[in-house]
Formats: sequence, structure tokens, C-alpha cells
Amino acid sequence: MAQVYERAALIGLGLIASSMSHAMRRAGLAGEIVGYARSEDTRQIARDINLCDRVCDTAAEAVKDADLVVLCVPVGAMEAVAREIGPALKPGATVSDVGSVKTAVVEAVAPHLPANVHFVPAHPLAGTEHSGPRSGFAELFDDRYCIIVPVEDSDRAAVDRLTDLWRGMGARTEEMDAEHHDLVLAVTSHTPHLIAYTMVGVADDLRRVTDSEVIKYSAAGFRDFTRIAASDPVMWRDVFLNNKEATLEILGRFTEELFALQRAIRQGDGDHLHDYFTRTRAIRRGIIEAGQDTDAPDFGRSKPRKGDITGG
Ligand code: NAP
Repeated sequence: MAQVYERAALIGLGLIASSMSHAMRRAGLAGEIVGYARSEDTRQIARDINLCDRVCDTAAEAVKDADLVVLCVPVGAMEAVAREIGPALKPGATVSDVGSVKTAVVEAVAPHLPANVHFVPAHPLAGTEHSGPRSGFAELFDDRYCIIVPVEDSDRAAVDRLTDLWRGMGARTEEMDAEHHDLVLAVTSHTPHLIAYTMVGVADDLRRVTDSEVIKYSAAGFRDFTRIAASDPVMWRDVFLNNKEATLEILGRFTEELFALQRAIRQGDGDHLHDYFTRTRAIRRGIIEAGQDTDAPDFGRSKPRKGDITGG
């Protein structure tokens, strides 16, 4: 694919930004990739591993003359970064982000952007439980969805150009409004993460009782939970603080279903359990048919694909 942007600036150099840099380079999508991270440590690692063409010491310097600026910091840090870069943006530039929550990010970022730049939020549905500039890899977005979330006055050409970039990085794209995105993600990602955190917490409490048997005999189901629950604490704290309404709505429904299953177990209602598990099995088949997971035994663990694990 041909070059989409002359100069792209990545603000924050963690898993998502570093994967974007590798994926952009793989397909030659940007003439120059400039990076900025908050800590000197991360900036130094980025320089040592040649993650970007140039690593700057301030965010304002990194966005100077960039055609595309992508905010790749935790959701709770977006506003401060937008405030800092606002005055330094090039007229006509596109500003995007990769945050796992969209309504709160749009509200936090939009007021700090000058009228002569295009704001096109986005969210790649791909990730692992690893963080930092060394954790990225070019294939992370291959065949995964990136949700593009145009805001009210997003320029069509700017939206199309960002879509070209994500497709060039291997992703499938879909457009959604911010509120709908947040509800869908509360179901498919945010609430499941909370449940994994809870299950691992419960097992940890139990471990004290059973003297490490929980870890020793942990079967695949629990191991998957521990992997999800190893995801970055700052990122996930910010997701729940910023997608409060949708997550609480889904958690409420989840609790009701859990009580219904609890009652079925207590009353020995095998029909209820069997019907429920038959319905959920069909959902799993649908995900495999949509090419979003493998039906290999043990989730294809014998041939792991690095990007198949989590994703906010
Ligand atoms: P990450 O690997 O933890 O990297 C975060 C980056 O943001 C680091 O460079 C960090 O700088 C910087 N940062 C952290 N706090 C900051 C602050 N207060 N001000 C300025 N910079 C700050 O994170 P990530 O997994 O790439 O996630 C980045 C974004 O992508 C988040 O908004 C997340 O919701 C979203 N996302 C994540 C996933 C996933 O599964 N991981 C998937 C899709 C979208 P230092 O290294 O210098 O501390």
C-alpha cells in the first residue's frame, strides 16, 4: 500500500503505539514516524530499539508539522495531552486516538483542539496483557477490527484517510458512534475483564485456604482469566472510570443472569442450565465463523498468535 501520511506522530509509546509503528513501517504507510513518551526511560528504550524515525522530548515538538497525530496514552491522560499539543498542531492535521472508551475521550479531547484540525477518534480491538515500547509487533492488528468513531463535524476525507491507514495496518474497519461503541465494548471487553479480575481475586483469597492448590492445578479456564487479569492496571482503572454507565448497565444484567443460574443449580433445574449452555455455545461458533478466533483445541495454544489474547 502507498504512503497515507507524510508525517505521523505517536503520543505515548506503549503496546498500541509500538505496534502501530511496526505495522506502518511494514506497509510503508508514513513518510516519517515521530514518537513521544512521558518518561525519559521509555523515550530512551524507543531510541535504543529504533522504534520511530525520531523520538522527541516534548509532545508539542513531536506533533509539529505532523499530518496525523495519534494519542496512545491511557484514557485518563488524554485531556492533559490534548491541552498540551493543541497550540502546536499543524492546520489541516488529523488528530486521532486509540482509547478503549470513546464518549469520555471525545469530551476530554475535542475542546482542546483548534478548529482547523480534524478529530477522528478510533479504537483498535486488539491487544495483549503486555505493555510498553518493547511489547508491540506488526501483526497485532491483522484481521482484527478497528472501530472508527467520527464526531459530529468530522471531515469525510479525513475519516477515509484514517480508515486507509488502519486497513493498511491489517485491520478491518467499521464506523460507530461513540455511545454505541461504549455499550458494545462494555459487553465484549470491559465487563469480561472485570469478571476476570474478580475471579482471580476470589481464587487468590481461596489460595490462602487451600495452600496454593488453586495455582498448582489451575485448568485452562482459570489460566485464561489470570492472563486477562494481568492487563495494565492504569489502563483498566481508566476504562472503568470513564465507561461507568455502560459497564454498570451490563454488570447489572450479568448479576441478574448469575442469580438465575445460581437458583437453577440450587433447585437442580438441569433444563435451565442445559438450554443456557446450548445458547452460549452457538455464540462461540459465531465468533469462529466471523474469523475472530480459532477453533483449534486449547485455543490453538500450541501455535500461539501473539495478538489473540485480550484487548480493551
Ligand atoms: P501502555 O503499553 O501502558 O503505554 C502507555 C503509554 O502512555 C506509555 O508510553 C506511557 O508513558 C504513556 N502514559 C501513561 N500515562 C501517561 C500520562 N499520564 N501522561 C502522558 N503519557 C502517559 O498502554 P497501551 O496498552 O499501548 O494503551 C494505550 C491506549 O490504548 C489506552 O488508551 C488503551 O485504553 C488503548 N488500548 C489498549 C489496548 C490493550 O489491550 N492494551 C487495546 C486497545 C486500545 P511512559 O512509558 O513514559 O510511562
